[in-house]
Amino acid sequence: MSLADGPGYLYAFIDCSRYWKLGMTSDFHRRKAQWDNECPCAHRWWLPPKRVMRRRRAESLAHLLLEMRSMDRPKQYCAHCRRTHIEIFVFRGNWNRMWRIVIRPLLLQVAVQ
Ligand SMILES: [Zn+2]
Repeated sequence: MSLADGPGYLYAFIDCSRYWKLGMTSDFHRRKAQWDNECPCAHRWWLPPKRVMRRRRAESLAHLLLEMRSMDRPKQYCAHCRRTHIEIFVFRGNWNRMWRIVIRPLLLQVAVQ
């Protein structure tokens, strides 16, 4: 684990009802503005961020758990910002349901580690 680990937030958003991104930051509002500026998507839905005590560790755990449960983890070329995103997760089915039964419980789970 990084010595620079410390408190912060895990955040999640979904683009086009399909591509989930989960990341960490020490400043949620700054990171959200950065994403929306550098990779603007008209069909992006931000979910409520989760406060964590060790953001890097929490993110690593969350990515591991997401990878075990997701359908795919593509290296996704992004038409919005013309970069290739990593750490994008794809789930089958209704995204609102995925948030309630998979993503949100997962954030709550890693937040207490
Ligand atoms: Zn992008």
